[in-house]
Amino acid sequence: RVKAEGRDGFAWFDEALHRRDVVRVETERDLRRSLRTGDALTLHFQPAFALDSTEITHIEALARWDSPGRGPVPPAEFIPVAEESGLILAVGERVLACAVRQVALWPDAASARVWVNVSPRQLAVPGLADTLLRHLDAWHVAPGRLGIEVTESTMDDGRLVAQLEEVRRLGVAVAIDDFGTGYSSLSRLAGAPVDVIKIDRSFVAAGCTPKGRALLEGIVTLAHAIGAYVIAEGIETPQQLDAIAAVGADAAAGFLLARPQPATAVSWRSAYPLPRSGGATVAPAGPR
Ligand code: C2E
Ligand code: MG
Ligand code: MG
Ligand code: MG
Repeated sequence: RVKAEGRDGFAWFDEALHRRDVVRVETERDLRRSLRTGDALTLHFQPAFALDSTEITHIEALARWDSPGRGPVPPAEFIPVAEESGLILAVGERVLACAVRQVALWPDAASARVWVNVSPRQLAVPGLADTLLRHLDAWHVAPGRLGIEVTESTMDDGRLVAQLEEVRRLGVAVAIDDFGTGYSSLSRLAGAPVDVIKIDRSFVAAGCTPKGRALLEGIVTLAHAIGAYVIAEGIETPQQLDAIAAVGADAAAGFLLARPQPATAVSWRSAYPLPRSGGATVAPAGPR
């Protein structure tokens, strides 16, 4: 198609590529500057709610960047740039520092861990457990208050698995994020050092059809078989909540229940009644 348009087609194509390159370079430059100066990089927190009790079981920390040049930039845009440029290591340090500090400020959320997303590139640096310990010690936070979320493909790399084992020995928990979207082999999964499996929201969205429901059920069964606690991500409708409760997921997160918010505005109660066995509905009691 590009060829059919002749030279102009190529020129247009080049220009589009070039524009993307410019945005990437600018993003990298702005991000580098933000990391130097401090507070443009912050965290929002999103709770996950247990389906069989009134507890918040999981609080995910999500990076937010208010770029000096472009205003708020979503993680889907700047995390890949940070990964490519290596800035993800500095971003990761900042995220960890903010998250652990926040845990220290939430003393009564004792049962809920705060979870940070850790990118493959961060995991590839030896000594992740020591890094986590350094942050925990700085705020006198117990390892049992922290968890890390990693991608599924991590389980196919022996070096990364060894890092996760070390992290877990420390008492920090490990979750597989976006489960079902990676290509990890099921045989590796069986022995994976994992506490929590987060079902990707694409499966949740498809869970209201018979086929989607069967898939959800299979994923939950698989996750429970390896001893993991199952969280369904991205619940946006009551139907989706019903579906994931029916297939036996342990907890749920999503805009229907609570949106990611700054630490001071976290919704400790589900905005929507949670289904319980027996049909009764309750809202969870959170800290404060
Ligand atoms: P994730 O770890 O799977 O995080 C969940 C994402 O889904 C978040 O997007 C969250 O805002 C969004 N979400 C939650 N509930 C719903 C819902 O009901 N519907 C929909 N449509 N979305 C929902 P966010 O914050 O934009 O982050 C996107 C991704 O960027 C994250 O996916 C994670 O992979 C990455 N990310 C975010 N923060 C960090 C970080 O600090 N470090 C690293 N390495 N990656 C991060
Ligand atoms: Mg995550
Ligand atoms: Mg996810
Ligand atoms: Mg993700």
